Amino acid sequence: MHFAASLVPCAKCGAAPGRLDLHGNDGPCSLIGECPGCGEPLHFHFDCDGDPLDRPHDALELGLAEPSQIIAPHELRAELARLDARITQPPSALAADEWQARCADARRAATAILELCKFGTDGQLEEERDRVLDRLEAFTADAPRVWRLGGKLRLVDEARALMNQVGRKTRPDAASLRRYIAQRGAPMPDADVGAITIGDESRPTIELDVRRGTIDELEAAFARVRRAADRGAFEVKVAGQRLAVTVKLDGKNVRRLTIDFSAGETD
Ligand SMILES: [Zn+2]
Repeated sequence: MHFAASLVPCAKCGAAPGRLDLHGNDGPCSLIGECPGCGEPLHFHFDCDGDPLDRPHDALELGLAEPSQIIAPHELRAELARLDARITQPPSALAADEWQARCADARRAATAILELCKFGTDGQLEEERDRVLDRLEAFTADAPRVWRLGGKLRLVDEARALMNQVGRKTRPDAASLRRYIAQRGAPMPDADVGAITIGDESRPTIELDVRRGTIDELEAAFARVRRAADRGAFEVKVAGQRLAVTVKLDGKNVRRLTIDFSAGETD
């Protein structure tokens, strides 16, 4: 829904919507916010089948396997073309700030192509999908370089980078988590995340001490999550695999984030 709403420019000034809050569930839902360009109130209405926050789907996707009922294929194609035009250089050629922005574009492009493929694929669209997903992987592979440049990644970026360690058929074990952290480099003094602890060989878990970051940010990184009553434990779905995430909260602030990569349910 957020993705669908983000495709609709403000009727008054043409700006793309900024932050929108979800109201309602199971039936009529609304996204409500203000235009970041002119302050005009924005209101998007959708009919939901079930609680939208209770249907875990892949972090890069907008829903389960069925094609979107609210975004048309031509809108996805147009969005993909717009994003492609913005990503003109390989990730390794970009400085930290530019890298962050283009990486976000590459992620959004991956979402657009994965959703487009749900309407049916042919050889050409599959080639296109591989191109877009390979490009996102190139950003993922280049992320440690940006860390070393001092590009301060937020909690959202940390969480996404960890999710990227999960493949369609593979999950990281403790040794590969250690390799990832070695590549990532030590936490920086002003970064959102402080100490990082990896579990022992029998349990591939990673625990982040969080200096700054909110539950809303995490939910943005994980897309739809299945929430526990206190939102301290939830399930996320990445590349078709389910992972257990627990957070220690202080109000809306996340103090600790633990991701358990042990084998769990797989669709
Ligand atoms: Zn506006």
